[in-house]
Amino acid sequence: MPAARTTGIAVSALSDENDCKQVRRAGDAAANVPPYDQGGNIVLNGLMMDRPLLISSIITYAAEVHGTAELVSADAQGHVTRSTYAEILPRISRLAHALRTLGIRPGDRIATLAFNNQRHFELYYAISGIGAVCHTINPRLFPEQLAYIVKHASDRVLFFDGVTAGIVRQMRAQWPADLRYVAMEDEPSTSAIGDIPGLLCYEALLADHPPAMSWPELDEKTASGLCYTSGTTGEPKGALYSHRSTLLHAFGLAMSASKLHGQGKRLLPIVPLFHVNAWGTPYSAPLTGTSMIMPGPRLDGASLFDLMDREGVTGSLGVPTVWRGLLTEIEKRGRKPKDLTLAIIGGSACPRSMIEALENVGVEVNHAWGMTEMSPVGTCGQLSPEQAALPAEEKFALQETQGHRMYGVELKLVGDRGERLPHDGRAVGELLIRGPTIASGYFENPEASAKLLDSDGWLRTGDMARIYPSGFMQIVDRTKDLIKSGGEWISSVDLENIATAFPGVAIAAVIGIPDAKWDERPLLVVQPVSGATPSKESLLAFMATKIAKWQVPDDVVFMDSVPLTATGKISKLHLREVIARLRA
Ligand code: ADP
Repeated sequence: MPAARTTGIAVSALSDENDCKQVRRAGDAAANVPPYDQGGNIVLNGLMMDRPLLISSIITYAAEVHGTAELVSADAQGHVTRSTYAEILPRISRLAHALRTLGIRPGDRIATLAFNNQRHFELYYAISGIGAVCHTINPRLFPEQLAYIVKHASDRVLFFDGVTAGIVRQMRAQWPADLRYVAMEDEPSTSAIGDIPGLLCYEALLADHPPAMSWPELDEKTASGLCYTSGTTGEPKGALYSHRSTLLHAFGLAMSASKLHGQGKRLLPIVPLFHVNAWGTPYSAPLTGTSMIMPGPRLDGASLFDLMDREGVTGSLGVPTVWRGLLTEIEKRGRKPKDLTLAIIGGSACPRSMIEALENVGVEVNHAWGMTEMSPVGTCGQLSPEQAALPAEEKFALQETQGHRMYGVELKLVGDRGERLPHDGRAVGELLIRGPTIASGYFENPEASAKLLDSDGWLRTGDMARIYPSGFMQIVDRTKDLIKSGGEWISSVDLENIATAFPGVAIAAVIGIPDAKWDERPLLVVQPVSGATPSKESLLAFMATKIAKWQVPDDVVFMDSVPLTATGKISKLHLREVIARLRA
């Protein structure tokens, strides 16, 4: 039998159970216990360096290798400032020193309340780089949620920009008295915050510190970022990312959305840095030499169009509601932003009509799906050249699905009793996920953590889906948004997609309402395009040509503005309350 050699111990190759036991004893006796696999076999470890995957390594790499790639940042007035990754690294280093001078230690939570701008990007790296946790706060959360999460996270310092200063003024009395505040401004006097004792100013904070930093060698499992779910049900829950999960997510995203990334590419994240890490782009962009265009707070269609046009943006990411605004602008001007070729759309289902409209003006659509708990991207629909060459109908049908899994993310479908369902494109079940970029629990919330995973350690997404043999996954609905009518399920997502294709419909939302005969029936709520007056009868008649008669909504309610969540998705919770009041 050939001899196998492991660290410090030579043993015979294992052939039976007795051999395993002997080896285990021999190993225990030795000072250097060899690792075993689940069958008791000695594992032969590779002889490669065990270097940690750290966020600081992304920006030091980008500054050196992609030093001339740009970070362009627009402010609330639309003025832009330009830097390169090489120019930004010294500022990040100064900021990291400044944080230490403020007494920040590894594990401390530092809050940011800001839009997409250069300083926010710098904070991402400086905070995590020294082992502290970058807690991004969504300024669109309700006051009680803002009060809750700052306390729950025990934030020590809060950075805010000019746009969010009003929120700080409003919330300060409800936040801990010892919270320190930093205005992300050039000079303290320009802040609209009024007098906060001990208020610090970002640029003054950086000024006295050296531009070089010896980044600490942290364990790669060290927490790096914290983001609370928007809390559509109950209190918000915190997903706590690590350096390792963040890097693996950045690698996965750069591969799954490879057309978005690369030297010469210019990416504009409409998705905010204040929520789910702008889908991981602040990490994947520098890593790949992709320039970033930070849009600041001006996210209306016209402002985005102008910025994309001026800055030669090649790809962008956002939820359907913001793409709707941009699309309206594209239709108005009769052209797309000149270099824009890629739209990544996710966060909620992207209607077929939007895919077609963008594709028709030369903007490729990749539909993506994710969750706060998964760093956040899980699937992305970049097509292969063969898929892209399919006849339009087949291609759009593929693009309507939420795409295929990102490397490192595993998907499984389960039925009502937790049994596995086939990935045959027909079976619909709850979607569960697993992988190194996915939460294993919530930050300091044992109760919610206990419900997060199934007994095999997979995370329950609360989404109903089907998976095709090709790996493409399609979200059918959220479990709680499915409508059960006369014992049959109706997907609100399907109905919304169809209604949005009708002329004059800007946003469509379908909810189930109680019905004496059928238990539940679908009700369609429509926000018309500004100035349009789509008729209820013709809209329902149009829908009847696309779906079975019993699936057609019973009624349509028109609203000037459908309620949205803090992340720009339709707030079904709020909508149900509004409709219940109306019906009462
Ligand atoms: P947020 O706080 O950003 O709203 P959540 O983590 O609460 O984020 O949202 C995740 C949920 O959003 C998913 O479970 C899914 O229901 C929905 N979602 C995300 N992307 C899509 C998509 N492309 N199509 C349909 N639903 C989506």
